[in-house]
Amino acid sequence: MRELHTATIIHNKPIAPGAWLLSFKRTFDFIAGQVIGIALDQHTEPRLYSIASGEKHHEIWILYTVKQDGLLTPPLSQLKSGDKIRITQPFGNFICKEKEAVWIATGTGIAPFASMFFSGQHQGKTLIQGSQSMERMYFHKHFQKEMGTSYHPCCSRETTAGCFHGRVTDYLEQQPGIKTGIPYYLCGIAEMVVDVRDILIARGVPFSNINSEIFF
Ligand SMILES: Cc1cc2nc3c(=O)[nH]c(=O)nc-3n(C[C@H](O)[C@H](O)[C@H](O)COP(=O)(O)OP(=O)(O)OC[C@H]3O[C@@H](n4cnc5c(N)ncnc54)[C@H](O)[C@@H]3O)c2cc1C
Repeated sequence: MRELHTATIIHNKPIAPGAWLLSFKRTFDFIAGQVIGIALDQHTEPRLYSIASGEKHHEIWILYTVKQDGLLTPPLSQLKSGDKIRITQPFGNFICKEKEAVWIATGTGIAPFASMFFSGQHQGKTLIQGSQSMERMYFHKHFQKEMGTSYHPCCSRETTAGCFHGRVTDYLEQQPGIKTGIPYYLCGIAEMVVDVRDILIARGVPFSNINSEIFF
């Protein structure tokens, strides 16, 4: 088991129905795309969370949804500013070093790409973000402002101007040309990652160009 350190919560606020943004002071370096473990105490097994803030931010941001019957997230969502949590050091290899790449995320799977974005790594990247509703299209306004036509929000249950109506899989299937020689980074639940991977492979993207982080 990884060593746990104490962190003091700065903010822990709902930002959309069922979704919270937790912040605490950054006391370590990390690479955008990495995760940390979070536990409430020394006795429970930490759950993993992708860091959503930029590498140089003075705060670490964690974007999480509350699983009603989960062990960690219901009590975590009750914590207030000044309360303590236990965290591991950052780790993980979901890191994008290439100049050109496509980032694809649904739900809280946007977190590692938000971190890359807030670390200034979005030049040359295409971001395809999926959500059921616009209020859960986390960090949408930041991406839209800075990434312009390289940003493709896909909303499956609402019709909104400037937003593809459907899932990320529908969006990909409707694209006439898919670049096959660049890396793709996928993050979200297993079903989305597998479905997107299958589409990319069917469209000629080599398996070795597909990098995935599955939230389970
Ligand atoms: C690499 C990685 C990064 C992640 N990053 C994020 C992130 O940025 N944001 C985020 O919100 N989540 C993230 N997750 C998911 C996160 O780690 C937790 O799994 C999630 O927050 C649920 O934690 P919990 O303790 O509340 O629920 P858990 O207690 O883990 O339960 C989750 C669900 O599984 C069910 N369950 C639990 N045990 C069993 C069992 N034995 N049999 C059947 N069902 C069971 C529960 O009923 C519940 O519905 C990530 C996961 C991974 C692997």
